[in-house]
Amino acid sequence: MITITAAVQCSAVQCSAVQCSAVQFMPDSRLTAKPGRATVANLRNSRGKFFATHKMPPNKTFWEYYFDRAGKSHLIPAEYTSALKKWNATRSNCPSLENTLENLIDVIPPEWRALANNLFAGRVLDGEANATAWTEKQAGIIEINAQYSFILTDYVHVFDRFRDYIAKLVEMAYSCDPASETPLLEEAQKLSQELSLHWSEIEEKRKDWADISLVQPGGTPKSRTSNPSRAKVLSDVESVCEEFIIAHELSHHLLGHTVSRRDKKKAKEAVDQALTESDSADLLTGINRSQQDELQADLLAYLIVARAIDSLPDFGYLYRSIFGSTIALLSLAHLNGNWAHESSSTHPGFDKRFQLISRLTFWLSVNRPRDADRGHPLGQLSQLAAFSSIAYQSYDANVKKVELNQGNVNSVCLWLLKQSGSLSDAIPDS
Ligand SMILES: [Zn+2]
Repeated sequence: MITITAAVQCSAVQCSAVQCSAVQFMPDSRLTAKPGRATVANLRNSRGKFFATHKMPPNKTFWEYYFDRAGKSHLIPAEYTSALKKWNATRSNCPSLENTLENLIDVIPPEWRALANNLFAGRVLDGEANATAWTEKQAGIIEINAQYSFILTDYVHVFDRFRDYIAKLVEMAYSCDPASETPLLEEAQKLSQELSLHWSEIEEKRKDWADISLVQPGGTPKSRTSNPSRAKVLSDVESVCEEFIIAHELSHHLLGHTVSRRDKKKAKEAVDQALTESDSADLLTGINRSQQDELQADLLAYLIVARAIDSLPDFGYLYRSIFGSTIALLSLAHLNGNWAHESSSTHPGFDKRFQLISRLTFWLSVNRPRDADRGHPLGQLSQLAAFSSIAYQSYDANVKKVELNQGNVNSVCLWLLKQSGSLSDAIPDS
């Protein structure tokens, strides 16, 4: 039985309604650390090794290489062409990845920066839709497959539709007759039918996601918005997902999972302290070493993205970390069917990984009042728990070749609406 549950330590925020039925686990090697020899990397070696291994031209950005290879250079928007030509690969073959890695280096403790400064982050076309951290032959490398980024984009857009749907539901809940739930249920059903169309598209595309030969520029999925102002917001949240992924791989390096385990004391101490204070140490017991490494990397990445290593984070960063971590891990679970814990796998199931996210969020926010917009990280967490539950139901229905059960989707959404009352009881007024 999988329970995708938020705010697990708070009795006032009951999430047991968000339950899914049992699934078969399929092992995978996503978001993994490739073991390498214990060598010291420097940035020059890391960069050289990256381009040589992937047989990519070091004088081109990933995007020029990608469009050239597909014979579609004419699709690069004119406003980007000269900027791409002038750009030099220093820390990455992609401007946005370089920006992400540099921002992360700026926010980690100074004593971790010597190691992080020697890492190269590359976007690649070959391999599977995942991200990896590896150190071989004196090279510290983080790589992310382009297909994984495209999957994240699709997922972010479906989440945006879900957010719209919940907003409409809340509006209806406030305007309908409080004595009767019937009209609300009927309206909710209509809206969720609309929502299920986007899930159908995700299931349709999932077959192609795993096929790396189909990574081609120029396609625009139907679920993507055509609203330019919304597109900008969504592009920002997509980059938050990538930030979590890069931070996860960076954390494998910082924690010594990729090379010698010596000299990683400070990062390990930060993880151990967070595990104790968030009452999460039990999540790492009874699982294999590789799964422990993954949860540690998730935890450290969450803290880095939330800017929570040495201080209590602002809600703005916390929202980014909760969203980026959940969507990045959820999209991989959906791609691979990696929902439930399986003792022999190299990676924990999504249920365990999301439990860790929930406990960290609870630890960092439950004693704090809502923000100026009446938002709260536990409210966002509930929303993502509901979204994750529907994602799982969509996956499960597709595997069983049945329709997505609208009744279950409605129950999850109505559960989410009722959460706001429970949340108010759980957090301080001001
Ligand atoms: Zn990993």
